[in-house]
Amino acid sequence: MTIRAYAAKNAIANLESYEYEPEPLGPFDVEIRVTHCGICHSDIHLIDNDWGITSYPLVPGHEIIGTVSDRGGAVSHLDEGMRVGVGWQRSACFQCDQCLRGCEHLCPQIQDTCVGYPGGFAEAIRIDSRFVFPIPDEFDSAAAAPLLCGGATVYSALVHHGVRHPMRVAVIGLGGLGHLAVQFARAMGCEVTVFSSSPDKEYDAKELGANHFVVLGHPGLMEQLAATQDFILSTTPADLDWEGFADTLRPDGKLCFVGVPRENIQIPAFTLIVARTCVCGSTIGSRSDIREMLEFAARHRIEAQIERAPLHEVNTAVDRVRKNLVRYRLVLER
Ligand code: NAP
Ligand code: ZN
Ligand code: ZN
Repeated sequence: MTIRAYAAKNAIANLESYEYEPEPLGPFDVEIRVTHCGICHSDIHLIDNDWGITSYPLVPGHEIIGTVSDRGGAVSHLDEGMRVGVGWQRSACFQCDQCLRGCEHLCPQIQDTCVGYPGGFAEAIRIDSRFVFPIPDEFDSAAAAPLLCGGATVYSALVHHGVRHPMRVAVIGLGGLGHLAVQFARAMGCEVTVFSSSPDKEYDAKELGANHFVVLGHPGLMEQLAATQDFILSTTPADLDWEGFADTLRPDGKLCFVGVPRENIQIPAFTLIVARTCVCGSTIGSRSDIREMLEFAARHRIEAQIERAPLHEVNTAVDRVRKNLVRYRLVLER
């Protein structure tokens, strides 16, 4: 069997048609016929080898929806033909302290869907069934795909860090992750502010549930916003004035990174000490986070606002993500 896909052959190159022979199906593996795959900004970081972990050829793609087309002998919870989703994680060790406490996403032996393995910009993928999630009927496949990484990441960060009514939550960057974070935080009963570099996103931000919209970059802005936020979720890959954002926290507030800026974060210790604030991070979500997130999203009618593109137009699509033109997640379709 051969799987047809699109791969980057080296950093910052266009993706090209690529075929590979998949590994034999292991006892816990399933094969999924991919119907939809979102383009997360982490795919762009991988294509560009921003993190120094990419091996080429790279088949990106880790916001996958498709149908189960084959399964190993030990798989009993997924049937052929079932609609399922896959996110950033393809497997874990299932034995370490993190796995045993239900935090498989923190497993030191984590296997990523498209790092060292071919991902979802393809007609099919073979993957550990224990990281494959049935998709509730309520969802449209294309609008659900971005929930598998983007949705899981922001939901898990909000829940794990104790965000709840009536906190004031700010989201930096209204992109794939950011526009989902606004919807989740609003549904959790928070007062939501969007910090954006794009003035034309104000209308959409408010339609998504934001109470306030702030365009970044004005002199004196951070001073005006001092001590106004309980939780700031940064979803931007850009390098911003992190000291200024730390100053916008109220006492006991948290500045949480899920977006990956290029440069190190520099914040004076006194900024954190005097208001007892924290700088923290969060990575994807555990399997139970993902199941809970899907249930929460279905109940609150949260899904991604998407642009669709056929898989063979992947390079134009990737270019739109790079240029911050997408509103708000581009999903490749087959
Ligand atoms: P995205 O869809 O491209 O959105 C990023 C947003 O950041 C943009 O819409 C834009 O919002 C803002 N931005 C400001 N300057 C930018 C620039 N120079 N280039 C691109 N965006 C810029 O990205 P995403 O898929 O949401 O991912 C965001 C970040 O989260 C990436 O670094 C990604 O690797 C990371 N991520 C982390 C995890 C995790 O587990 N921690 C999971 C998934 C993704 P405005 O126009 O509103 O400023
Ligand atoms: Zn992602
Ligand atoms: Zn483990």
